[in-house]
Amino acid sequence: MSPHPRVVVAGGIGSGKSTVIGVLSELGWSVINADEVGHEVLMDPEVIEAVAARWPRAVTDGEVSRSALAAVVFADPGELFTLEGITHPLIAGRIESWVDSVAEPLAVEVSVLKVANPGWGPLVIVHAAKSVRRERALERGMKAADVEARMAAQPTDAELLAAANVVIDNQGTVEDLVESVRRFDLWARSR
Ligand code: ADP
Repeated sequence: MSPHPRVVVAGGIGSGKSTVIGVLSELGWSVINADEVGHEVLMDPEVIEAVAARWPRAVTDGEVSRSALAAVVFADPGELFTLEGITHPLIAGRIESWVDSVAEPLAVEVSVLKVANPGWGPLVIVHAAKSVRRERALERGMKAADVEARMAAQPTDAELLAAANVVIDNQGTVEDLVESVRRFDLWARSR
């Protein structure tokens, strides 16, 4: 019996990982979003300096413009790799401290698999086919070109499924998904 399960939740854009995280939170899990930690890290003075040195146009009045930075790095895998080299160690460090401080079931939401540390728990992949994910992301109001760029920068569905310890299917209704997460919660707490 593990009263304090830990998991990493990942999936492609539009897969439903934020929805899964929301349900886990309602069920009493502590949750953290690595993307949000990434946004905080972009306010770190050392990071601002490094970003300004490499992409001067992405920094205005001492602040990183996330949209300007995203336009550069999601258009070029080499630039994305460079940015990740600057931000990932800091993101991982902050999440590590958070994980160590939590004494409840916890879930770390990541959109980039390589930022996750295996010590944060088994990998739960929220799965929906690319066409379904694209439609959901567009309905959510994202621009088609932005959706394609993010999808191209993310691992393929086959890569995500191969890396998964647990798969939560999200090709049905939201109600189906909530039911799957409830079952997952019971299973994780009883392991
Ligand atoms: P992610 O965090 O993986 O990008 P979200 O949880 O934000 O995905 O879901 C993307 C969009 O799709 C949201 O608007 C969400 O409400 C919607 N959504 C999630 N699951 C379903 C589902 N099973 N059926 C219909 N819409 C869904």
